[in-house]
Amino acid sequence: MKLTILGATGSIGVSTLDVVARHPDRFEVVALTGHSQVDVLAAQCRQFRPAYAVVGRAADAQKLAQLLADAALKTEVLYGPDALAQVASLPEVDAVMAAIVGAAGLPPTLAAARAGKRVLLANKEALVMAGAVFMAEVRRAGALLLPIDSEHNAIFQSMPHNYAGDMARGGVRRILLTASGGPFRTTPLEVLTAVTPEQAVAHPNWSMGRKISVDSATMMNKGLEVIEAHWLFNAPVDRIDVVIHPQSVIHSLVAYEDGSVLAQLGNPDMRTPIAHALAWPERIDSGVAALDLFAVAQLNFERPDLVRFPCLDLAYRALRAEGNAAAVLNAANEVAVAAFLDCRLPFLGIADLIAATLDAVPQADLPDLAAVLEADRQARAAANAILTRRSNRKSP
Ligand code: NAD
Ligand code: MG
Repeated sequence: MKLTILGATGSIGVSTLDVVARHPDRFEVVALTGHSQVDVLAAQCRQFRPAYAVVGRAADAQKLAQLLADAALKTEVLYGPDALAQVASLPEVDAVMAAIVGAAGLPPTLAAARAGKRVLLANKEALVMAGAVFMAEVRRAGALLLPIDSEHNAIFQSMPHNYAGDMARGGVRRILLTASGGPFRTTPLEVLTAVTPEQAVAHPNWSMGRKISVDSATMMNKGLEVIEAHWLFNAPVDRIDVVIHPQSVIHSLVAYEDGSVLAQLGNPDMRTPIAHALAWPERIDSGVAALDLFAVAQLNFERPDLVRFPCLDLAYRALRAEGNAAAVLNAANEVAVAAFLDCRLPFLGIADLIAATLDAVPQADLPDLAAVLEADRQARAAANAILTRRSNRKSP
């Protein structure tokens, strides 16, 4: 199978290459992309010898080309958004790992869907922003969409065989999305006001990129995943529940009409869902250790606390509101998380900024990619304006 890996230098990208390296007979890397970590990308190119490597900017492309020339590699170096879409839709590529973080991943991920590829979707923001447009393109092009997000991969594995988007027909009653609760699961509200980016990115169970780590700390990650589950499985919003499960061993569950509940379990390591989607419907070694139930010993469950974690509630509301609301939510969240990581916004300000942005941007339908990108642009402008107003008010 010939692969393009979008976001190869990130946490998911590195885990993907780890699985790929275990099966040289099975996988061939055609293209790798990384935004600005030129040295990491160069090392990956030396190991996997792709035909193409893509970076963000011309200066980085020059630097990478020099490093690859020094290593006598024939890899062609490209840069910019069009190059991402190009390597995501190359005729010789079978499968595309969509592992760019945030809205930047939408155009190339959509390009892969349009080209009818096997799309391994880690970039949940693409689906949150553009669910209707994206799913329509997947169907039209006959792409195979396989979820990498551990919860959605678990749901996929627990759904009826050949599930085609009809829960009633499949006898599925509910989807139970598990959540670790993140680093602040038990932190009191008055302490949350003062938590730092370093505390927020220190996830207890998963090692991930900075943006998704903050999303886990606010539980916006679970909110985005509710929206993601809605689109992937055509699940009505009122049939998707969030269950706090601090051990992160059950990756999600599906409840059936007959009372059965099916789940997928495993150690919290993204190489399991990655290997599952790469090889589906076969199974291959992922490098993940066998689950030791005796070491786990206990599996606990709690209800989410929407007072301490208002982002989860905002996501449910955006999904119910339909139209551009989820795209606005996603863009506002990206602005808010970047501001928090930059120490320009307190932790609890993240939810406030998203709520204010949802109020500020008028409702609209999202019939096509242009409308999605416009909603994203409007929401970023509104969120940044609110942020600036608030920081001006605070300065003396
Ligand atoms: P990361 O920050 O570690 O990596 C992000 C990748 O995207 C890097 O390769 C980076 O170079 C690239 N990138 C960043 N900005 C870009 C831009 N503007 N243009 C092009 N490329 C750009 O992130 P991650 O943790 O690997 O997460 C990637 C995606 O997978 C996210 O959407 C995240 O929500 C999802 N995801 C991650 C995990 C996980 O365990 N890390 C689990 C589930 C879902
Ligand atoms: Mg997840």
